Amino acid sequence: MDRLRIAIQKSGRLQEGSLALLKESGLVFSNGREQLKTQVRNFPAEILFLRDDDIPQYIEDHVADVGIIGENVRLEKGKNNDLIKRLDFAKCRLSVAVPKAEEYKGINFFQGKNIATSYPNIVREFLEQNKITAGIHEISGSVEIAPGIGLADAICDIVSTGSTLLSNGLKEVEVVLQSEAVLVADPEISEAKKTVLENLLFRIEAVQSAKNNKYILLNCPNDSVEKITNVIPGMKSPTVMPLSRKGWSSLHSVVNENDFWEKIDLLKSFGAEGILVIPIEKMIL
Ligand code: ATP
Ligand code: ZN
Repeated sequence: MDRLRIAIQKSGRLQEGSLALLKESGLVFSNGREQLKTQVRNFPAEILFLRDDDIPQYIEDHVADVGIIGENVRLEKGKNNDLIKRLDFAKCRLSVAVPKAEEYKGINFFQGKNIATSYPNIVREFLEQNKITAGIHEISGSVEIAPGIGLADAICDIVSTGSTLLSNGLKEVEVVLQSEAVLVADPEISEAKKTVLENLLFRIEAVQSAKNNKYILLNCPNDSVEKITNVIPGMKSPTVMPLSRKGWSSLHSVVNENDFWEKIDLLKSFGAEGILVIPIEKMIL
């Protein structure tokens, strides 16, 4: 069978999340430091370890079939690939920053100025959309020092906490793009590989749903079962089992992480006791 070639970052900020996602999806492979390529032992795929910036080109050239990259790189490179799924890690933003002492009143600040960046295409598009004419100075690293050494008036770079900006005397003034890791694919892969990709996607979705949900067990008076079922309906409906104590039941369900605390209060008000909340490893809807 055709092996699906999955490209991930060799080392850097995407590496850990990419490896974790594939491993939690049940793919077993070794990731030795020196390796460029490795076979997955229990799934028709192989992993390529590459620089993240190169992945879109490898996909366009049909050397890799799918890849995990940041949306920032996907948009900057503009190569031919389909966005298959947002992956909920490596969240960051691409922002414009100016020296702290500048008085910034709005985007017209950039008219006629020079912006240093590793993302010339994204910045060009951003300037066009805002009808600003400014110079773009492309540099590949240490962008944040550019204003300090007189190379540019502003920068556009990845920000996560903003501490790098601060320590270089800069302040963030506009967010150009919100980014996270995404799974992208060559639109022209074979039918056989498409089937493998669908299988992988199914597993990724099971891992993601599991992360967003918790298994919940509680004891409640029998006459609260219906009210509690309405609060935590679970996947189809909760499991209800009688306790040996008369008039009481044990109720098992699934609850979404996001509205968990709000629901707990409601459950307690309906007489729920002994509430246990347990992580779920995989969840198939
Ligand atoms: P490579 O050597 O593979 O080219 P790199 O130096 O270009 O690595 P990293 O710094 O490892 O790249 O960042 C890879 C991706 O991770 C970025 O393109 C971005 O999508 C995301 N990212 C960058 N910085 C952060 C951050 N501080 N927090 C979260 N995600 C980030
Ligand atoms: Zn890179």
